[in-house]
Amino acid sequence: MKVDTRKAFGARECPACACEVPANNNRCPICGYHFPAPSTTQRNMKLWGALIMLGLFLILILGLR
Ligand SMILES: [Zn+2]
Repeated sequence: MKVDTRKAFGARECPACACEVPANNNRCPICGYHFPAPSTTQRNMKLWGALIMLGLFLILILGLR
């Protein structure tokens, strides 16, 4: 099985020059385009979603007893 290192690390297309930039690189090495970092609010939303799901799960289990 061939391992694609670009896929393993992940790559995204630069919107400015359309070249592939490694996902761990926040700046395009060709044109210097700066990729916006993932916002903390998005991460918090995921965390809250997980907590709410856990809470509903617990309510269901406790409610059935
Ligand atoms: Zn670029």
